[in-house]
Amino acid sequence: MAEEDRHVRGYGTGVDPLVADVAVVGAGAAGLYAALTSAEEGARVALVSRSPLAQTASYWAQGGIAAALARDDSPECHSADTLAAGRAAARPSAVRVLCDESPGRVRDLERLGVSFDADRHGNLALGLEGGHSRRRIVHAGGAATGRRITRELSAAAALHERIEVLEPRAATALTVAGGRCVGLVARSRRGDAVTVLARGTILATGGMAALWRRTTNPPGTVGAGLSLAQGAGAELADLEFMQFHPTALRLDGPRAGFLIPEAVRGEGATLLDATGSRFVDELAPRDEVALAIQARLERDGRPAVMLDMRAVDVERFPNIAAALGEVGLDPRTDLLPVAPAAHYTMGGVACDLCGRSSLPSLYAVGEAACTGLHGANRLASNSLAECFVFGRRAALAACDDPEPSPCAEPGDSDHTRPPSDQTRDALWREAGLRREVAGLRELLTDPFPLARLVAASCLAREESRGAHQRTDHPGTDPALDGAHTLVDSRLQPRFERWT
Ligand SMILES: Cc1cc2nc3c(=O)[nH]c(=O)nc-3n(C[C@H](O)[C@H](O)[C@H](O)COP(=O)(O)OP(=O)(O)OC[C@H]3O[C@@H](n4cnc5c(N)ncnc54)[C@H](O)[C@@H]3O)c2cc1C
Repeated sequence: MAEEDRHVRGYGTGVDPLVADVAVVGAGAAGLYAALTSAEEGARVALVSRSPLAQTASYWAQGGIAAALARDDSPECHSADTLAAGRAAARPSAVRVLCDESPGRVRDLERLGVSFDADRHGNLALGLEGGHSRRRIVHAGGAATGRRITRELSAAAALHERIEVLEPRAATALTVAGGRCVGLVARSRRGDAVTVLARGTILATGGMAALWRRTTNPPGTVGAGLSLAQGAGAELADLEFMQFHPTALRLDGPRAGFLIPEAVRGEGATLLDATGSRFVDELAPRDEVALAIQARLERDGRPAVMLDMRAVDVERFPNIAAALGEVGLDPRTDLLPVAPAAHYTMGGVACDLCGRSSLPSLYAVGEAACTGLHGANRLASNSLAECFVFGRRAALAACDDPEPSPCAEPGDSDHTRPPSDQTRDALWREAGLRREVAGLRELLTDPFPLARLVAASCLAREESRGAHQRTDHPGTDPALDGAHTLVDSRLQPRFERWT
């Protein structure tokens, strides 16, 4: 497109639209990387970000990126661990793509200036986390991986001549014309709107874990991309699979829900119940550890179990020690009260292996997407890898979409209103670690649309699997192996098997 086409008069809301090749919503790891990849391909990119960097989940990522880089490792071995963690619900083709391509993306990040921690021989230092049979977690600054990556990527995006950053602005609606997505409406805090016209629109808005009362996520992580996609007619999938991280700090105040990562258990931290005894394999996959903790909490009538990090080299985790210090805890001497909290959205906008949603020219990447990769339980550190692997694939696909029609009417409703406190309480209560049918039926009437969709998905899956545990269906139904739950706005769920 020629430079003079950039602002087309008389379009939509009366404000000149910004014409780009690719519109990206969200500036976490997935959005930044997708924006940079598109720009490197020669595309003009509009990057819309609602919040400053510190409010992305990516910024808080502590463990690292899973990639089969060790001599004794292979993409096949990484795939086997991912499929096992996914509880027979992960999509094998998506798993293969992630595990094959993740090492290449780590090398790309190094080229972009991210400096990962090295061992004393100068090789990448690889951490071990729950559910991984090999050391394969690449990290930066100890447990400051997300911070380091987003810092480098956002600096590169801000300087890139083909990336226009619209910040702070929230995408409030997608524009659909001729059966495809042709861009979006982005509003400032004061409410003034900019319309963006683009060949391809990529949602990189993160997950929805902050819809649950207790969460490890920043407060804005409330599924805005899912609401936008749904409002435009795209399908959502697997919303019943919310991962609860086992070891979130169980305190009130500013550090409530602060996550103490698996990597700490990988280095020897143990979990202790009220009698001071260990009760679970600390390096089992997350669903297993979270459920074991929940069972102990219910048995002992306590709000927390204790994480014992006293034998761990705290120097390796300086930002964890600093955060604990803020609330008067010293991991070298104190036991740390921890309990599960909503952490990661395995479901999302239903996508193919290039991030394409069911609405042409609309893509989703990172935690907003559901490629089926994680099945019923995400393997630790596979999500940052997903941001880069599928972020790149979607960016390349979006650049090839046809030019949008300039006479499309932009959407005018706001699909991204925040949830009430009552909704967050209801999701924690009714769609928490263990779910009952009566509570889920009640959740079907919640005023917040995404809460109703979660309830419908939970009710449809009449079994227990990974992160979804029904008290009335405690077993796994083999007939649902490999089945993904799709749900529409009429709350009509159906199952599909994806190749
Ligand atoms: C505490 C913590 C630790 C973690 N540790 C790890 C780890 O070690 N390894 C790992 O692999 N994963 C980890 N995860 C998960 C991982 O960080 C996330 O899955 C991943 O970073 C999600 O990236 P994203 O780019 O999809 O979304 P995010 O990083 O959440 O970014 C979303 C972006 O979208 C923007 N946005 C949202 N709505 C709108 C809107 N309407 N308009 C405009 N912008 C919008 C937000 O402002 C933000 O910029 C961790 C998560 C947490 C919370």
